Amino acid sequence: MRLTFLGTGAAGGVPLWGCGCVVCASARIDVSYARRPNCAVVEAGEVRLLLDAGVMDVAERFPPGELLAILITHFHTDHVQGLFHWRWGVGELDVFAPHDAEGCADLYKYPGPLRFRHLSKFETFNVSDVHITPVPLVHSKPTLGYCIEHDGIRVAYLTDSSELPPATATFLTEWKPHTICLGCAYPPGMEGRRNHFDLPEAIALSNDYPSSRIVLMHISHHLDEWLRAHPDALPERMVLGHDNETLDFSGVP
Ligand SMILES: [Zn+2]
Ligand SMILES: [Zn+2]
Ligand SMILES: [Zn+2]
Repeated sequence: MRLTFLGTGAAGGVPLWGCGCVVCASARIDVSYARRPNCAVVEAGEVRLLLDAGVMDVAERFPPGELLAILITHFHTDHVQGLFHWRWGVGELDVFAPHDAEGCADLYKYPGPLRFRHLSKFETFNVSDVHITPVPLVHSKPTLGYCIEHDGIRVAYLTDSSELPPATATFLTEWKPHTICLGCAYPPGMEGRRNHFDLPEAIALSNDYPSSRIVLMHISHHLDEWLRAHPDALPERMVLGHDNETLDFSGVP
């Protein structure tokens, strides 16, 4: 199994329109610093799944037949904006998502080829031989994380959460993911009500799963900027994800 990040940015991505910070400025010059909104593709045997659709041109990247399904974590725009173009297409594609009566704009009303299928928490389902367990997260909209298992490899994809519900934390403790892709939008010290983990919270969470590698995603320009000034702030088992980077789990015991 392997996972490729198509987008590792917070809403708006990096660079942000009009922002003059050092991170956004460098991302305009060197695309390797850019972060598109959340989106990843998982490949396991013959199965290819899309996780979130934050990248605007994502439909063009996967011709019919290349994806078995799309898994949507929640219906905030930065996670579903790539679906808006997709729905003008032809054919059929399953889109698994949390129960959310609103969805996003008129996606439910005019779904085109997208067949929305709503999931219940902790009810494991299979796409071919890939086993997927949706786990609830805490966010300003109904949000699911996805625990994905194939051939003994276990990867958790947890974005857009301000804490882990106790039942999700317990599930992860027992499930023992090899890798946790974790949404972490903010550096330490951001004031105000937050719907996302900041770095100290992400580090605290990582301590609860000592056998897991932690890969951060949903990263804002604030976090990138802070990490430039504090390059040694990440603990040993924690790394930053990057757009177009592939995590290969084939060598995982
Ligand atoms: Zn988001
Ligand atoms: Zn900026
Ligand atoms: Zn969100």
